[in-house]
Amino acid sequence: MPDFNKVGILGDGQLARMLAMDGHRIGIQCVVLGHDERSSGAQVTEFRKVDYADPQSILQASHDLDLLSYEMEHLPYASLLEVSKHKTLHPAPEALRLAQDRLLEKQFVQSLGIPVVPFMELPSTVSLVEVAEELHFPFLIKTRTAGYDGKGQLWVRSEADFEQAQALLISRPCIAEAKCEFDREVSLVMVRGVNDQLAWYPLVENVHREGILFRSEAPAPKVSEALFASASSYATKIAKHLDYRGVLTIEFFEKNGELCVNEIAPRVHNSGHWTLEGAGCSQFENHLRAICGRSLGSCEAVGKSVMFNFLGQMPPLNELFSLPFVRLHRYGKEQAPKRKLGHLTAHHCNVDLLSPVLAKLEKIFS
Ligand code: AMP
Repeated sequence: MPDFNKVGILGDGQLARMLAMDGHRIGIQCVVLGHDERSSGAQVTEFRKVDYADPQSILQASHDLDLLSYEMEHLPYASLLEVSKHKTLHPAPEALRLAQDRLLEKQFVQSLGIPVVPFMELPSTVSLVEVAEELHFPFLIKTRTAGYDGKGQLWVRSEADFEQAQALLISRPCIAEAKCEFDREVSLVMVRGVNDQLAWYPLVENVHREGILFRSEAPAPKVSEALFASASSYATKIAKHLDYRGVLTIEFFEKNGELCVNEIAPRVHNSGHWTLEGAGCSQFENHLRAICGRSLGSCEAVGKSVMFNFLGQMPPLNELFSLPFVRLHRYGKEQAPKRKLGHLTAHHCNVDLLSPVLAKLEKIFS
């Protein structure tokens, strides 16, 4: 087995930063291949500027790297496909192709017999009256591509919203989704390594604000064996079907003890940040282990972890620094509305000791 130790990461955000920082500890060097030499990822490791749309630029920048990976979905598929013919790239670009188009993603998941929210493809000429008849108000229009963190989404609550909806449909290819009256949102971060090694972190309970992840609790409370079994079997089916290597995240809606898939993310994920403090091996280390052909680390949770994202503005840092069992992560980014600037994880094995800290955090972030 080759002793891979130099990995190029396409994407230069906080996920690249955390991959690089965790990789450094185990002797896997990440080189960030990105746009911006001041980016979150570039601040902590070697940076090389690339044009994602130009396979030659990526290949030239990675001539001395052992393999490549990516930390965001919004990369040109055709370019990565070409790159993958000349350089090892994990996960394979097919996972990216599906994840970056909501229609292909849902059709793919459905074709595996895995539940998804009722959806419709929306040609720009579609009659919204017919969509409303089929999906009922309120329904959600989502752009097929470039939608993340609640971007490219519009709730259609009544005919009064048709004009705005029509404008979105004309501007971009879209799908419509029925509203899922979920009890909660959960996600599963799993990892598939060489020789079909598989490992799953516990289910995480997620709370979003304006479509952006705000709070994750791990392990999620009230997870029956049956619920975890369906989440892990759905995720495994998807991973095996794609012959996937690396960390794969599946976001679910849970209703009455049943799951349906909302989204697939072929990468390390925000709902897995707690694993840095709260699991046997973090999602970042496990991703690098998987793509470099090493044994996977334990995905078992150690104690309880609750993560809060810093969205758009930094919380009062002095107050946070004064709290025990809280680990801060700052991404070195300029403040901007809704931007993920950092996160914290409150973690302890003794829930009684963690509870008062969590009560203070809930107040700070209310
Ligand atoms: P997405 O970008 O698809 O992950 O959506 C962002 C968030 O919007 C999700 O995490 C949910 O909170 C909400 N959302 C998305 N789709 C639906 C749906 N079909 N029904 C209800 N809420 C939804």
